[in-house]
Amino acid sequence: MKRIPEPFRIKMVENIRMTSRAEREHALQDAGYNPFLLRSEDVYIDLLTDSGTGAMSDRQWAGLMMGDEAYAGSRNYYHLCDQVKSLLGYPFTIPTHQGRGAEQILFPCLLAKKRREGGGQKPVFISNFHFDTTAAHVEMTGARAINVVTPKAFDTTTYYDWKGDFDLDLLQSAIEQHGPENVVAIITTVTCNSSGGQPVSMSNMREVYRIAQQHRIPVVIDSARFCENAWFIKQREAGYQQRSIKDIIYEMYQYGDMLTMSAKKDPMVNIGGLCCFRSDEDLYNDVRVRCVPLEGFVTYGGLAGRDMEALAIGLEEGTNEDFLTYRIGQVTYLGERLKAAGIPIQYPVGGHAVFVDAKKLLPHIPPEQFPAQALNNALYLEAGIRSVEIGSLLLGRDPDTGKQKPSPLELLRLTIPRRVYTNDHMDYIADALIALKAQAHDIKGLTFTYEPPVLRHFVAKLKPVE
Ligand SMILES: *Cc1c(COP(=O)(O)O)cnc(C)c1O
Repeated sequence: MKRIPEPFRIKMVENIRMTSRAEREHALQDAGYNPFLLRSEDVYIDLLTDSGTGAMSDRQWAGLMMGDEAYAGSRNYYHLCDQVKSLLGYPFTIPTHQGRGAEQILFPCLLAKKRREGGGQKPVFISNFHFDTTAAHVEMTGARAINVVTPKAFDTTTYYDWKGDFDLDLLQSAIEQHGPENVVAIITTVTCNSSGGQPVSMSNMREVYRIAQQHRIPVVIDSARFCENAWFIKQREAGYQQRSIKDIIYEMYQYGDMLTMSAKKDPMVNIGGLCCFRSDEDLYNDVRVRCVPLEGFVTYGGLAGRDMEALAIGLEEGTNEDFLTYRIGQVTYLGERLKAAGIPIQYPVGGHAVFVDAKKLLPHIPPEQFPAQALNNALYLEAGIRSVEIGSLLLGRDPDTGKQKPSPLELLRLTIPRRVYTNDHMDYIADALIALKAQAHDIKGLTFTYEPPVLRHFVAKLKPVE
């Protein structure tokens, strides 16, 4: 197992506090056995998300001082546009406050356009896998969100290079079933967050775009982890070993018409997003009109000038190959250590997180007692580490029957922030989980003391089952 040294040195530190077991027991009880409700100061290592949690570089911090806070036409906006144009080849850029800001201004305009063209009576969006907020914004337009990721994505133990790929047969039949005139857009999510940060191959992106063009359906690239996806293409896809990451990224964006981006992931800013267009200037203008009341004037979209500057710099830094090799190497290293110790994980490891299979690790806890959340709590008590449940608790109940929806997987996601924790922290995390494995049979399931009607995982309160 190779540890790749950090390709940076540390100029400023933020102290984190290790608590005693008694303090953690107290904090967790106060939080209703739901780590979402912990104060971050009571957490030693926070693996809740990689979104907005990255460390900015000295250049990005310097960029903050260069903010031009003009209401309109800020210098930083033009810098951002130039970066997007040179990296991705898209000449029309709208900044947004984060990824979902781009979704809320784009999707209704796409549907309106489809309707002007005479379609969109029973509108659908098709994606390899819609991210949660993406699906929510699709549904808020009145359309349905259909996922056609390769079924190999759901087999956690068998190696496959491209678990983020579209299943092209499923895509074709979904288009036929709903009628191309009703398909508002195809959304290519790179990497595929919902299948575990798994990459989409270039050949798949190319083929999806060809099919979309055949049916005159626009392609949106949901771009949160576009650099990590390019790195996987360079590693795994024949013909790309000699190409630069930037070159690969440029090609990826030829297989889309527009993009939405949560810049809180690969571009390593704490807040920010983008909505950009390759050639459809009319649509760009429609979306700009919607941007003003929802996100802000079109040259700031909810961001300060300084935020746009940090983003313009971060876009470039995210593409650095040495950084990506270290970054994905760090995530892989954690996964390999767990795997070597017999802890069941989703395999291969994706770009931004390691997923532990809690159903396999805690077979004595039934789904309705939330095995992955039980493991989350145990890991916090053991070592002060906070992670996040991706399973039955997140999935919730069927609104029609009130019954728990059956979740195919009960996963604990260990999400690694960028440039924040060292390889020693990875060893600490691995050691803690390995220690827990030895006492797994003592971990108890959970039951609700308060269950909110919607999005319950955020604020639910629980207690251990005696
Ligand atoms: C995070 C994310 C989003 C939403 O972005 P926010 O910045 O959280 O609003 C959309 N799509 C994907 C794939 C994401 O990972």
